Amino acid sequence: MALHLERSQELQQRAEALIPGGVDSPVRAFRAVGGHPPFVERAEGAYLYDADGNRYLDYFGSWGPMILGHAAPAVIEAVREAALRSTSFGASTAAEAELAELVTRAVPSIQKLRFVSSGTEAVMSAIRLARAFTGRNRIVKFEGCYHGHSDALLVKAGSGVATLGIPGSAGVPVETTQFTTALRYNDLDEVETLFARHPGEVACVILEPVVGNAGTILPEPGFLEGLREITRREGALLILDEVMTGFRLSLGGAQQIYGITPDLTTLGKIIGGGLPVGAFGGRAEIMDMLAPLGPVYQAGTLSGNPLAMAAGIAQLSALHAAGAEFYDRLAETTRQIADGVQEIAEELGVPLVTNRIGSMFTWFFRDSSDSDVVIDFDDAARSLTERFGVFHRAMLERGVWLPPSQYEAAFVSAAHGAAEVEATLAAAREALMVAQAA
Ligand code: PMP
Repeated sequence: MALHLERSQELQQRAEALIPGGVDSPVRAFRAVGGHPPFVERAEGAYLYDADGNRYLDYFGSWGPMILGHAAPAVIEAVREAALRSTSFGASTAAEAELAELVTRAVPSIQKLRFVSSGTEAVMSAIRLARAFTGRNRIVKFEGCYHGHSDALLVKAGSGVATLGIPGSAGVPVETTQFTTALRYNDLDEVETLFARHPGEVACVILEPVVGNAGTILPEPGFLEGLREITRREGALLILDEVMTGFRLSLGGAQQIYGITPDLTTLGKIIGGGLPVGAFGGRAEIMDMLAPLGPVYQAGTLSGNPLAMAAGIAQLSALHAAGAEFYDRLAETTRQIADGVQEIAEELGVPLVTNRIGSMFTWFFRDSSDSDVVIDFDDAARSLTERFGVFHRAMLERGVWLPPSQYEAAFVSAAHGAAEVEATLAAAREALMVAQAA
């Protein structure tokens, strides 16, 4: 079964001459799974259409934002209307407070927030704020969590860093990461030890409350609660990076599901409806340290961009209106897909560990001698990435586009219905057999 990607390959060659690897974000190059990346021309609902006229069922949803499906009419109409009034002002608009209200209404721990243009910026700014508020330098993160590509956080990061198998990044001075400690996810003992070794030094603990960037990994019972307790006791801030989980796992994100109140939260992806947006927010006394009220500088020419705000307002309004049943339905569709393939794999004798929550999931390809749980990055890193690559290509040939790395979560949208579940299970049965035989 071969995909016709001639036009995509021409476009790739043209891009490679001018753009490193032909891509503006490394994982798009398909290095981890092999084969040629299709060039997308348009998308609608649950489907992507490439330059050669192929159609794919989309399981990465722009890496998270497209929870309503592609080209959702309410979002497109809002962006169209906003664009007619010009694309940027560099001055305040009513839309910023309107979107801020939609966010704070859903996430009560966010008393105040500020919009930026990416998740990277949101996290970078939250870290600066945490350091200023506590007067401390050290930051604690967890192996396999990805918090954007700012220097201090490129330590044992997940996502593309894990996909490419690099420990950090060239060009980051060791001095920049000397205050960053990466610990094992789901291991509170390591956190206690770190705090005991560095009393009064830790500004913040930051984590993905549910990891998406090492593949999907769930917090063990007590892990998030323990981190909340330790940080409070030690005078450090708890930052939940909900760039992926915010408005994805529930209207109030992972913090609502697990009942954890962080000091600061970072958001991105869904709150921009597919346009470039991030946000960081939390306790008002911390946020009020930002310029112009306080001494922490942070700014952005395109922050609060009117098109991005319009898309975000349309998308979050739709999610508010749809309520809890919307998330229940998404989770049920995801269960049918994720667990359905797990069952087929068991029937065929292909060792697979399925981690899922809400509309996020990962199929980890395992060695039969390995354990059947994935609760930290070391577990995830023992996955059979070559077998995943064969499976990925076989799925793509059958019209299903999974995230092109074992270390990325797959996303399900509201546009995925019964027909899509059925098509995915049928494709996966064949693709698993291909992967097994390879
Ligand atoms: N934090 C998390 C949890 C993320 O998943 C990502 C991106 N996948 C980021 C931060 C960085 O966001 P961006 O790519 O928008 O800079």
